[in-house]
Amino acid sequence: MKMLINGNFVDSKEKIDVVNPFNQDLIDQVPAGTPEDVKKAINSAYVMKNELKNFSARKISEALYACAVDLSDDLEEFAILISMETGKPINAARDEVKRSIDTIKLSSEESKRIYGETVPIDAGIGGKGFMAFTLKIPLGVLGAITPFNYPLNLAIHKIAPALAAKNTVVLKPSATAPLTALKMAEIINSHFPDGALNVVTGRGSIIGDELVKSEKIDKISFTGSVETGRMISQRAVMKKITLELGGNDPLIVLEDADIEKAVEATIRGSYLYTGQVCIAVKRLIVDDPVADDFVEMLLKETRKLKMGDPLSTKTDIGPLINENAAKVVERIVSNSLKDGAELLLGGTRNGNFFEPTVLDQVTSNMKVVQDETFGPISPIIRVNGIDEAINVANDTRYGLQASIFTENIRHALKAVQEIEAGSVMVNKQSTFRTDNMPFGGFKMSGMGKEGVKYAVEDMTRTKLAVLNTR
Ligand code: NAP
Repeated sequence: MKMLINGNFVDSKEKIDVVNPFNQDLIDQVPAGTPEDVKKAINSAYVMKNELKNFSARKISEALYACAVDLSDDLEEFAILISMETGKPINAARDEVKRSIDTIKLSSEESKRIYGETVPIDAGIGGKGFMAFTLKIPLGVLGAITPFNYPLNLAIHKIAPALAAKNTVVLKPSATAPLTALKMAEIINSHFPDGALNVVTGRGSIIGDELVKSEKIDKISFTGSVETGRMISQRAVMKKITLELGGNDPLIVLEDADIEKAVEATIRGSYLYTGQVCIAVKRLIVDDPVADDFVEMLLKETRKLKMGDPLSTKTDIGPLINENAAKVVERIVSNSLKDGAELLLGGTRNGNFFEPTVLDQVTSNMKVVQDETFGPISPIIRVNGIDEAINVANDTRYGLQASIFTENIRHALKAVQEIEAGSVMVNKQSTFRTDNMPFGGFKMSGMGKEGVKYAVEDMTRTKLAVLNTR
């Protein structure tokens, strides 16, 4: 596939292979873009911003809606492509496309709800006799950088709200999984003018860096790892910035929880897309009196998971994105065993497949729960009571989402108030996300919020008009 610059699909001499993580087959190649390509894409977006800002909200809304309809028509094709380029089990890939359609429709609706407000300016000294109101105007050009794990919906979470607020966009998708974003760009380009959306493929260190430092970009919206996010935040001088970074989400199971419900949630939360999800459950914090029962049920349910071809609807666990990622998980698991964790299930790597793995007797200081483990691992930390559970939950540099299982309303509310995370779910695992909810972490998990309404708000700036009525 080719890059999209100023409405043209552009190739380059140097190419990047896109490989199916399941069988290592070459799916396609994409151009290895150069700084020159990025500059052309930025210029195109920079010129188009002056045209797009004069589009009516109605026209923008209808164009976005048309994109959602086209994507619905191609749902299965997109799902297969996501599955092939990421190794994501097809059921989860279909869910991603359905959510992407929803994200675009929500953006289409939100584009009609961008309001300023009247300002009671006569409340301030010297304001008598004046009238004032604000306008929410577009920022200009958005630089969007996305990771491999949700290659469609995470790109859409940036592109669609940006267009809804009449901004133009330059997207740099993951070099590992760039194909669905390029395919989506074809749809968007057919409903928006040339230059409204540009997509430049290539290495983050080249393409991403060029976007981050350009003075023609007004905002960077980045989703990816803490390490890359930290680098970007240091370089994006004088730009608005949203960072959606890694997570280390806890799931607390208290003595008074419905254990069956908690186990079912753990299976969904730990093993969705083989654990390669920012909001996957990465730490199980279990009250000691119910820990043995919980572990027994968790092992029983984990044994039922099927590993295999991501394109089969029967597959729960696919490959990790590449062999290196699987080796990292292997190393983290083996280190935790050296540090005293107990292996109850799994623990074996075969190429880039890693078995669903349950570890018991994990402690807060182990790397398996201090770092973000991007794999199918359920590490269990045993605690006594709500206070210790919350302390352990907060003992991390991350704070994306969190969950607690309890039938006691006081415990639920205490967790909501005291856990340091962007969202706290009660009796639901942290992988829960609807595309209109405010989403974004605390601490090293990032800054700013996505979720259509919140992203749109952050892609506008406020202008004040003051009228002298005397
Ligand atoms: P990553 O390595 O940080 O890469 C993310 C994007 O940044 C890629 O497009 C990458 O390009 C680009 N990049 C790399 N170096 C760059 C630089 N110097 N300047 C600008 N851009 C640069 O992350 P990943 O491995 O793809 O994704 C997994 C991570 O994303 C996990 O930590 C996960 O938790 C996080 N994530 C967070 C959320 C959230 O909403 N909070 C959602 C999903 C994933 P290349 O492709 O060339 O490397």
